[in-house]
Amino acid sequence: QKPTANITLGFYSDDLDDGLQSRLKLEAELRTAVEQQQFYLVYQPQIDLSSDRVVGVEALLRWRHPQGESVPPFRFIPILEEMGLISPLGDWILAEACRQQRAWQLQGYTLRMAVNLSPAQFEQLDLPAKIQSIVQAAEVDPGQLELEITESLAMHNPEATIETLHRLRHMGFKIAIDDFGIGFSSLEYLLRFPLDTLKIDRAFVKDITRGRSDRAIVRALTSLCQGLGLTTIAEGVETQRQRDYIDALGATEIQGYLISPPLEPAALIQLIDNYATH
Ligand code: C2E
Ligand code: CA
Ligand code: CA
Ligand code: CA
Repeated sequence: QKPTANITLGFYSDDLDDGLQSRLKLEAELRTAVEQQQFYLVYQPQIDLSSDRVVGVEALLRWRHPQGESVPPFRFIPILEEMGLISPLGDWILAEACRQQRAWQLQGYTLRMAVNLSPAQFEQLDLPAKIQSIVQAAEVDPGQLELEITESLAMHNPEATIETLHRLRHMGFKIAIDDFGIGFSSLEYLLRFPLDTLKIDRAFVKDITRGRSDRAIVRALTSLCQGLGLTTIAEGVETQRQRDYIDALGATEIQGYLISPPLEPAALIQLIDNYATH
């Protein structure tokens, strides 16, 4: 347990008391953060390669720490998971993303909204009904909401996952499998999951201009998805050369720093306006 806690906190200490103290402090701060709603969402654009337009965004969680800095999710989401606080926060994330999507829609911007689901959230038996009621209350079209689950979450209990995904899809939601490729799940299962989108993990994009094997994997994934009618989003595209390779290998969309880091709502709209005129 000890090394995990230290990695999560982002530092290493030999002193057991120090590590435990900081962990307890962080837990107390996170409890307050949930109570006082110190979280907010930023949105990263997803570009369709054939039209070069922003077609969707992914909502990403941030914590505005009372001391001022914005804390990235890898530092606190695993702890919230362990503390059992991720499900209530997950409800808020969904509601907030839907509220923002509706607000944009009323301003004339129709964007697919992708929201990440955590393993603990996904295991709630009433999840589909809950998501449905949040989305209905926000007056958002379910077909414009994409729920992202990671490959490892999906493969943890594939049979149960398949059932939940069928229920969600029946309600009209879109399903994306996130971080795909790193777990090398069996393709047999992939074919049984009701999916709309496959997100190719950044690990394969990183060396795409250098590594033949990464290119072969990406090409195999995109042609498989094409055959199945799935959208493929390449994650973590940082350079124009990576974009060119990804495009040539047949992915449909890209997301990454080349286009933009995750943005606050006003900045995202500005970026979309710039795209519309270039
Ligand atoms: P993810 O779902 O794979 O999200 C993509 C991450 O890659 C984001 O990090 C994003 O800022 C980062 N990224 C995007 N483009 C690039 C790029 O070109 N280069 C590099 N190096 N990174 C890029 P972020 O926002 O720090 O989130 C990290 C992870 O935390 C997410 O990975 C996701 O697993 C989790 N997370 C974030 N928000 C939420 C949330 O609302 N709910 C849940 N359950 N998990 C979340
Ligand atoms: Ca994601
Ligand atoms: Ca991802
Ligand atoms: Ca990732």
